[in-house]
Order: sequence, then structure tokens, then C-alpha cells
Amino acid sequence: MAQMRAAIESGVPDNKPFLHPLMRKNYGNWRYHDRPRPGVLHHVAHGGDEIWTVRAGTQRQMDVYTIRKLCGIADEYADGYVRFTIRSNIEFMVGDQKKVAPLIQALNGAGFPVGGTGNSVSSIAHTQGWLHCDIPGTDASGAVKALMDELYAEFVREDMPNRVHLSTSCCEINCGGQADIAVVMQHTKPPKINHDLVANVCERPAVVARCPVAAIRPALVNGKPSLEVDEKKCICCGACYPPCPPMQINDPEHSKLAIWIGGKNSNARGKPTFMKMVASGLPNNPPRWPEVSAVVKKVLYTYKEDARPWERVADWVERIGWPRFFEKTGLPFTKYLIDDWRGSRSSLNASTHIRF
Ligand code: SF4
Ligand code: SF4
Repeated sequence: MAQMRAAIESGVPDNKPFLHPLMRKNYGNWRYHDRPRPGVLHHVAHGGDEIWTVRAGTQRQMDVYTIRKLCGIADEYADGYVRFTIRSNIEFMVGDQKKVAPLIQALNGAGFPVGGTGNSVSSIAHTQGWLHCDIPGTDASGAVKALMDELYAEFVREDMPNRVHLSTSCCEINCGGQADIAVVMQHTKPPKINHDLVANVCERPAVVARCPVAAIRPALVNGKPSLEVDEKKCICCGACYPPCPPMQINDPEHSKLAIWIGGKNSNARGKPTFMKMVASGLPNNPPRWPEVSAVVKKVLYTYKEDARPWERVADWVERIGWPRFFEKTGLPFTKYLIDDWRGSRSSLNASTHIRF
């Protein structure tokens, strides 16, 4: 009888058994690659093998029927192998150029655009949102779907100055990354504390230690152990809310969205860069977030028109300068934007020591 594979509790499994056979055979041994058209990569191995990869966009949060549909396309039109990119595009590999066009036709016919390569706007990276996480102030995946519907044309063609990576994050503190243009949750009021629940639910020292500006103190409220917040110090980051849900910070009116630009995670062709905030206080307005889409599109299309070939968003802004960025995009500038204040390193609680 076949033995069940023992579960591996740590680390990722070896990916080699899941690779397309041509990829496995030529792993690390490619002569060159090119892109015959947007959404298609073509790799040529030193030994002469060739493989085509067709990249398609998805709605990211997928139900089992959609995944079955994609796997059916892989079995019928590709060689039965798929993989997901870090931005949740799905890629199909074929060892025969003749299979590329029917595969693209099948994907488009099922509603999946082919693109996301080279100088396009690839799929938007998003955090988990209302579906999976317990602390989001907005639905990052919903904002992504609304935005990608509007940027569909930029996914299927490659005519941006350079690649553009977008992201959304549904809280300010956890799993978001740096992106050329990012939509980030922004709380604007300190948490509201439900004092009846704190003693039962929260480890108070852990919550006190969590605050980056030491604004939380233990307190006795109505004879019960609880916490209090020095609202003058609080920067509304929301870091106290995950370890202590009674410190509710999500608010339908005061939780807003901000747009940050110029971030880059990789060190390819230029060093990584941190994003800077260029618009704030946008309404958290599901299900289509039109105010957010309008600002993202304003930045994106100003960049598209004004940047030189191969400039990423951060390179473009560095060349023209921040005053010109605000002039060209027409976004209003306030003193709260593009904060690059170096003093934050010693005044924010960036170490394990609490400073009062
Ligand atoms: S960004 Fe924050 S709220 Fe969103 S999934 Fe990550 S931890 Fe949860
Ligand atoms: S952790 Fe953040 S939100 Fe909570 S009290 Fe401190 S500064 Fe305010």
C-alpha cells in the first residue's frame, strides 16, 4: 500500500517535482529569454530547448470553481503545469509555440486577461482584507479588484516607462510592502477602549510595549484593570488593536485611505526605496472605492506621460522633484505629506526598549 507522505511542518516544499519537465531539465541553464508579446515569456536553453510561459491575471481571491476552470485550461491548452507569481498572476508553460495562441484565446474566452509582463501594470499585490484577517480597516482585495477593472488596458499592454507595481494594505502596520503606488489604510483617531473587556482579553504589558510612541499606560477604570491612551502622543497607528481587540481603532468614518508612492522592494537595477505619502484622508468607500482609483490613476497617468523611458516612479520623482510632482499631478500638498523626517529614528520606539 502506498505510504502517506508525512507532513512537513516547517519550510516550503521542494518545488522541483512541480516544475514543467523542460524547466526541470534546464533549471539554471538558460541561454536567453525574450518576450514575443505582452504576457508571453520565451526561454531558450543552452541545449536548444524552448519554452513559452503565458501569464494571465486573475481576480486574486479565487473560489474553487475558478481554480478548477484554470486547471482545466492548463490540462486542455497547456502542458498541465501552472504556477503563481508573487503578484498572484497565473502562468501556464508550453513546450510548443503552436500552443501559445489557442491558450491565449482560451484564457481570454474565460475572462482572464493575458499580460502583466515587462513595462505593464502587473497584478496588484494586496493584503488579506476582510476575508482572512482579524484586524483590517478596509478590504484590500476589493480595492484591488475595483482598481484593476479600471487599469485592465495597462495590464494587457507594455507601454509604461518601466514596470509599475501597485499594492494595497488594509492596516498601517503589518503585511503591506513597498510599491510604486500603494493604497494604505490610515487611521485618524486614537483607539476607543472598551474597558469592560480589557482585563479579560488583553495582556496589558504586551499592549503597553507594543505602542511605538509609548502612549499607552496601565490604568484602573471603574475598579477594573484596564489601559489608557495619551491621545496627544498617539499617532493612530493601530498597533495596539491586534493584541487587544477592545482597543477598537477601525471606524467607518475616521478610518481613511492614503496613497503612497515611490517604493521598491528589490535591489535590481537600483537600490530599494521607501514610499512617501502623497494623498491622505480618502474615504474608505466600498465596494468600488472611486476616490482611491481617481488618485491612483492621476499619479499613474502623469508618470506615464512625463517619465523618461526606464524610469520607475521613484526615479521620475527624484528627477523632477516633489514640488513639480504635486504641480504636475494636481494633488494638493500639505505639511503632513512626503514625511522623510530623520529624527523619527530616535523619537519613535524603534527598538525593544520603551522610551517615555
Ligand atoms: S495588512 Fe494588516 S489588516 Fe491587512 S491582512 Fe495584513 S495584518 Fe491584516
Ligand atoms: S499603538 Fe498606535 S494607535 Fe495604539 S495608542 Fe499607540 S500610537 Fe496610538
